[in-house]
Amino acid sequence: MSIIYNPQQYKLADKPMESFIDADEIHEIIGSHLNPSMEQVEAVIAKSLNKNRLSLQETAILVNANEPEMVDAIKTAAKQLKEQVYGKRIVLFAPLYVGNLCINDCTYCGFRSSNKKQERLTLGKQDIIDQVVALEDTGHKRLILVYGEHPRYDAQFIADTVKIVYDVKHENGEIRRVNINAAPLDVEGYKIVKEAGIGTYQIFQETYHKPTYEKVHIKGTKKHFDWRLTGLDRAQEGGIDDVGIGALFGLYDWRFEVVGLLRHVNHFEAVYNVGPHTISFPRIQSASGFEVDKKYEVSDADFTKLVAILRLAVPYTGLILTAREPGYIRDEILQYGVSQIDGGTNIEMKGYTSHKEQQDLDHEQFEICDDRSLNEVMEELVEDGYIPSFCTACYRLNRTGEHFMEFSVPGFIKRFCQPNAILTLAEYLEDYAPASTKEKGYQLIEDSLKDYEDERFKGKLIERLGKIKDGERDLYF
Ligand code: SAM
Ligand code: SF4
Repeated sequence: MSIIYNPQQYKLADKPMESFIDADEIHEIIGSHLNPSMEQVEAVIAKSLNKNRLSLQETAILVNANEPEMVDAIKTAAKQLKEQVYGKRIVLFAPLYVGNLCINDCTYCGFRSSNKKQERLTLGKQDIIDQVVALEDTGHKRLILVYGEHPRYDAQFIADTVKIVYDVKHENGEIRRVNINAAPLDVEGYKIVKEAGIGTYQIFQETYHKPTYEKVHIKGTKKHFDWRLTGLDRAQEGGIDDVGIGALFGLYDWRFEVVGLLRHVNHFEAVYNVGPHTISFPRIQSASGFEVDKKYEVSDADFTKLVAILRLAVPYTGLILTAREPGYIRDEILQYGVSQIDGGTNIEMKGYTSHKEQQDLDHEQFEICDDRSLNEVMEELVEDGYIPSFCTACYRLNRTGEHFMEFSVPGFIKRFCQPNAILTLAEYLEDYAPASTKEKGYQLIEDSLKDYEDERFKGKLIERLGKIKDGERDLYF
């Protein structure tokens, strides 16, 4: 079977959109690149280090590279790419669960409709305000709002809740970017949500393997593979060009999902001339009412490898890692080019104000493994030399596709992203950090300033840092 990436092939009018994922094709590509040689692996790596997106066949070589020295080479290259392209910034965000009513029955999710143990709740206006104030009090500036799938959570509801979040401004902070993780909408629905000023609209396909998909999505709208697969195409039609894709690792063979994700990326490039803004790779966690076969469980070794492969395969997208993963996995894969993580995460409904000591699976979607506070995460990042960033400048200046700009515009990171990360870090240190974090944070800022040889630019940055110390906020390049 030949694979030709002819953009015309995927135009809405020409062909049903859903046909771009072909399980036989993906199996065939993976199966025809078994046992690659070290030379083949090195050639693919070299292509990626030259900042080229890999083909499906090249990615298949990497997913089949099992020898320890091959895996080492893949991980080392991912680190190199991350350092060359993205530098030391890590963007921080927090998820906020708005409602856990759900008509679907996804066998892996605590919110599934057949799980009668789950307490159902939809945040009202005041509840949202309370959660947002609590998040702002810790220093967050970027949120992702998460919703079950339910007629009550229609486009207007999503848009209204986004507006409530943006309107919460109190003396101790503000949310500057709201992303969405919700069910796929129709084109009209996306237009309404776009109007509310969202950042990225994320929809994870969960698995690109249709037979598995149909097995784990028992009922509700979500059981329709094609409706979900084309969800972000409708978003594009509705004017949302900032989209995030993902797969839930552990439902089917991880190699298939990696190639499936890449095929989805190709589709966006072919049809819209721009790939997705972000890729997420949640690994399945235990949940209330959980009924998933462990057959495809992804080991830590495979998980860390697959993240390095994704970095190499699509060097220009943002990679999002969440608190589903324990600290030691986070620490390793941050080095392979993860660009965004959540911090101080609580996925329980009203969790940011409930202050419970222990997780309770009947109140949340699934178990999380990293329950450190935002400040603990910040301090650790700083100690490891990363610059935690709350920057939202690209989005607010209409420089869409922030990660793409970073990747494709030479010098962009040094001129915009790094200084903006430094400025948002300084805001955090002034407004929220305890003394020990503040000291370490300012030391990191001072060290980072040494990277700037251009004295004029460095002068401007130092001037803005001074203004932040004097109480000005929200300064960016
Ligand atoms: N209800 C919407 C949907 O299904 O697309 C959006 C929100 S859903 C709560 C967000 C994502 O959580 C899902 O796309 C799925 O990948 C992930 N998820 C669900 N159950 C999970 C589990 N047990 N472990 C890890 N991630 C899970
Ligand atoms: Fe509902 Fe989403 Fe959970 Fe499925 S993953 S049961 S759609 S909340």
